[in-house]
Amino acid sequence: MTGDGPKEDASASEEEEWQLYSSAGYASADDPWDDLVAINEDADEEEWFDGDDFETSGQTVDWDSPPCPAPLGIVHMIRIGTCNHCLHRVAGRRTEETGAEAGATLRKEAFARDKELGSSEIPELCPLCENLFEDVENIVERIVEQTGELDHGTIQIGVHVPKDLIQEEDRIRTRHGASGSRPLKASFTESIQMGIRQRMDGVEFVKERPDLMILIDCLTLRVDVDIRPVFIYGRYRKLERGIPQTRWPCRACRGRDGGCESCEGSGLQYLDSVQDLIGEAFRLALRADNTSFHGMGREDIDVRCLGRGRPFVLEVKHPKVRRTDLEEIEKAVNSNAAGKVEILELRWTNRSEVSRIKETRAEKSYTIRFTIEDPPEDSSIIESISSLSGVTLEQQTPKRVSHRRADKNRKRKITSVDNIVIDGNEVQFSVRCEAGTYVKELVHSDEGRTVPSVAGVLERECQVTWLDVEDIHAD
Ligand SMILES: [Zn+2]
Ligand SMILES: [Zn+2]
Repeated sequence: MTGDGPKEDASASEEEEWQLYSSAGYASADDPWDDLVAINEDADEEEWFDGDDFETSGQTVDWDSPPCPAPLGIVHMIRIGTCNHCLHRVAGRRTEETGAEAGATLRKEAFARDKELGSSEIPELCPLCENLFEDVENIVERIVEQTGELDHGTIQIGVHVPKDLIQEEDRIRTRHGASGSRPLKASFTESIQMGIRQRMDGVEFVKERPDLMILIDCLTLRVDVDIRPVFIYGRYRKLERGIPQTRWPCRACRGRDGGCESCEGSGLQYLDSVQDLIGEAFRLALRADNTSFHGMGREDIDVRCLGRGRPFVLEVKHPKVRRTDLEEIEKAVNSNAAGKVEILELRWTNRSEVSRIKETRAEKSYTIRFTIEDPPEDSSIIESISSLSGVTLEQQTPKRVSHRRADKNRKRKITSVDNIVIDGNEVQFSVRCEAGTYVKELVHSDEGRTVPSVAGVLERECQVTWLDVEDIHAD
């Protein structure tokens, strides 16, 4: 059922998507309408139909009448005040027209068969839909108004119908409607979709991953349009030290209220970030609100990322435009951020790649340079450092991150060590190791919290000068 929205086949990535969705103010990940159901309970106090001794125009309704499409069944539906739209929906009769027009024809036929029926008045409220179908045009109009400026191809419609109306409708329909009749919610959603199709060209309705999620509350007739994000995959090279991967709010003001003195009104601790050097070009081109940056791991702020670069997925939020020339953006970023950040291999992707990027535990290669206090013989240095090739490190959470990471021991394998270059008391080498290895600590040992280490095997103090990521062995 199109109208039932997010509950179908929720894969892990979709869970996540709805989690986000719920953070946009729609209650839990499971049912974005939970909050609205509560409102409904308060609002709907009157009892308008209790079913068993229903009377209309002095005639007692025959509850034992056969279900539709039997003529008596249709008469029964008319007697209890079914609207034309619902009459067509539950009658189970083949008609040339659709919707209310078809219902009107069925009603006319029934009147012609049964003169007495002609005298019965049509109650004001259809017990199957509470006249919901009368609002279709109005709702479609609101949708057209709210989506007019947006670039979109696919739409998913979510409809909230009050729970007790659904239950009552279901009860009447299963007892008196033709078998296989469309339920209220599905039928109502179809009517909305039909209305939208008449007003917009080239719209496709989908059950997952829409460009626009449109939520309709049948009680208040509120229409909410949620513009779903777009995702771009790429790799970045960070050519300059001192740039954080993601935007870093000012420590003093936390980026609120237009910044403070210490950040000179920028609201940022570091003016540049990989996220903004790349993301701003997309945000502007796609007329979006904001971006999220998902990297395959991250390097420290003082570490460069070279080689083929680090895979990332950029999430562009609430884009009014959904397409742009990636090649052009790549060029723009690479010229605006020249010397700082460079991007390559851009392509469009979707949220599932965010999980993939986050979960991939790729080996990495680094070049690291450090100074040795009172260095031993060159041959001894080379022999000691080479001995670390293939070993498994025991690393206790480094002191420098212990304020935000749990203190624990982890084992990390050093795949290989090579290219050892000695230059006075400075040494440089390349190392390939398992994901999650603390490489600076591999060199200076973090006061013995990493074992073995370069400092340990050399029995000397070592101080890291710089570190570069040379390759991330993924994709
Ligand atoms: Zn109705
Ligand atoms: Zn500040």
